[in-house]
Amino acid sequence: MITRRGWLGGLSVMCAPGARKSSALIIDGQNNHAWAQTTPLLQRYLAETGLFTVSVSTTPPKGGDMKAYRPKLSAFDVVVLNYNGEDWSKEFEGDFEKFVSSGKGLVVVHAADNAFPDWVAFNEMIGLGGWGNRNEKSGPYLRLREGKWVPDTQPGRGGSHGTQHAYVVKLRDVNHPITKGLPAEWLHAKDELYDRLRGPAKNVQILASAFSPLEMKGSGEEEPLIMVLPYGKGRVFHTCLGHGVEAMQSVDFIVTYQRGTEWVCAGKVTQKVPADFPGKDKVNVRS
Ligand code: ZN
Repeated sequence: MITRRGWLGGLSVMCAPGARKSSALIIDGQNNHAWAQTTPLLQRYLAETGLFTVSVSTTPPKGGDMKAYRPKLSAFDVVVLNYNGEDWSKEFEGDFEKFVSSGKGLVVVHAADNAFPDWVAFNEMIGLGGWGNRNEKSGPYLRLREGKWVPDTQPGRGGSHGTQHAYVVKLRDVNHPITKGLPAEWLHAKDELYDRLRGPAKNVQILASAFSPLEMKGSGEEEPLIMVLPYGKGRVFHTCLGHGVEAMQSVDFIVTYQRGTEWVCAGKVTQKVPADFPGKDKVNVRS
């Protein structure tokens, strides 16, 4: 009886009714990607950790009344951006800047780093971005030279990718809470491999990268793909992985996204690395 009460006591601490989950808001609504198919995955992956309640806010469609779009952010701990579309109102941009800089979390998924090329604060938040006429005026590339990521200011386009393929992702920071315990290399499911991203790139910590081969119409460079950075008192997790459903079902996408979102909220990661995390020889997906 005592043992049983003790066990229940332990259980109640782990799943304490009333223990506050972090509150996540996914913003979607415009994207040159299949946001209506991928948002349910992004929502489910966070819910499955047991650490989050997840809401979705969908903007007006292209050409709609964006001035009227101003969801209240104060109720949330983290915003997940699955959005690549028209500019927001200055008022909502201001809300968003205040939200992140005040100490909340931001998660940037794949084409969300294509958005808002002219919004200075947003580009500081994401560190690196692509397309939208980004070029040397947007900031440097980050290039891996002798084991260090260095800014490269040479002129050229910001943002590109070659032919989709499964590729090996390499860990570049083994001690960060998000990546601690992950294998040194793993095979990511067929996806775009973003290359030549450019941006302010201030205080960016690259957690993982992949080589973009010329024969796949890539850059011939190691490309930063998973990164973190501060913005004011807030934390940002930016993953370039996740073009579509297939790429998002790759276990490494799921796990790094789940851990990254916990980290931007809490500054630590309590999730264990699952047994189905891929190694470098075989893709592993959850459908
Ligand atoms: Zn894409």
